[in-house]
Amino acid sequence: MLIVQKYGGTSVGNVDRIKNVAAKIKSYWSEGHQVVVVVSARSGVTNELIARAKSISAAPSEREMDMLLATGEQETIALTALALHSIGVPAVSRTGAQAGIITDTFHSRARISQLTGGDIKERLNEGKVVIVAGFQGISSESEITTLGRGGSDLTAIALAAVLKADICQIFTDVDGVYTADPRIVLDARKLNHICYEEMLELAASGSKVMQSRSVEFAQKYGVPFEVRSSFNDQPGTIVKAFEKTMEDALVSGVALDRTQTRVTVGDLPDSPAAFAAIFDALGESSVSVDMIVKNVAPIPGKANLTFSVNTDQVGYAEKVITAALKKLGAGTFRSSGEIAKVSIVGVGMTSHPGVAGTLFRALSEAGINSELITTSEIKISVGIAPDKADLAVRSIHSAFGLDK
Ligand code: ADP
Ligand code: ASP
Ligand code: MG
Repeated sequence: MLIVQKYGGTSVGNVDRIKNVAAKIKSYWSEGHQVVVVVSARSGVTNELIARAKSISAAPSEREMDMLLATGEQETIALTALALHSIGVPAVSRTGAQAGIITDTFHSRARISQLTGGDIKERLNEGKVVIVAGFQGISSESEITTLGRGGSDLTAIALAAVLKADICQIFTDVDGVYTADPRIVLDARKLNHICYEEMLELAASGSKVMQSRSVEFAQKYGVPFEVRSSFNDQPGTIVKAFEKTMEDALVSGVALDRTQTRVTVGDLPDSPAAFAAIFDALGESSVSVDMIVKNVAPIPGKANLTFSVNTDQVGYAEKVITAALKKLGAGTFRSSGEIAKVSIVGVGMTSHPGVAGTLFRALSEAGINSELITTSEIKISVGIAPDKADLAVRSIHSAFGLDK
């Protein structure tokens, strides 16, 4: 069988852990399987590199940032290959470029446009384990690019698709995908399986166990994968296309996103054209807006728009909105602090009424107020005060009986 495995930052966090990963790889290779391994940077390294760059420059060049961040993964591919050599396994490391991961030119969030695999097949046929650097690619202009935070997941899924792997395993520091982040909810349960749609909504709503773009890719190309622990041999969670038998749960999981900030555009003309001017300007500048509410302003004929944007993008959003307001000749911009977004996700929601009732009762009983709300077919998200986030996740988790 051809197996693609990915080991995340904690799993390769130090030399002993890299040796542990090598032993695990050897156990699969010894059974006669062909093994391609994607590794992340050691945990903390990418953040450290970002902090170092920011200590030199407040707005560092995105090209140089990618050049810098790609080094984290380059360290671990070489160390993993060396660890394999030392236990008698022939192995060779490959950068993203060497593995033929060709991307567009958008530094820090590049999209894969072509994936050739380079010489991976040839090396596998020689009996070698091939270790590929996650998170990085090379642009059509021969520049090093990165695929967005958590992007090693995407490298693994994309390689599994292109190489037509029989199995794709995402090894991490938890036993699988849980009904909520097990660090927040101690009685969260591991799911045996979850469908792409739910996994995607959970990932996009802040469950960082999988990068959301990697799940999107897996769904598009029909790559089933398993999320499991690198620290034990327990089976993990299978992520695959929806099947009728999965329909039992109303809500499959609760997700938390702490990276949102609330923004209010006040005293706008109460007209769709004015709202369009604001959201068009944000859209053209690639600022995504999430939860939105409209209130009437105290001044007749005026309205306030409140919505959430990614905290990283607030400064940029302010610039864009201020320019749009100037053109409109009305309105004010105000950012009113960070909020936490708590979401419930489940395909069962489409056919079961009453889900919102249970959600808001749980919040009310915990004394938590929510002002921003957004829904999709299989998700409801609420914006709440960040200091109430953990309590909200726990209360909602138990209100839906997810601990049972
Ligand atoms: P890796 O370094 O292996 O890519 P990450 O830190 O990116 O690992 O993702 C694993 C972490 O995701 C876990 O340690 C856990 O705290 C967090 N997490 C958030 N939501 C969930 C969830 N629903 N199920 C499992 N883990 C989750
Ligand atoms: N090292 C990168 C990050 O921290 C990519 C990854 O870990 O998947 O985001
Ligand atoms: Mg990750």
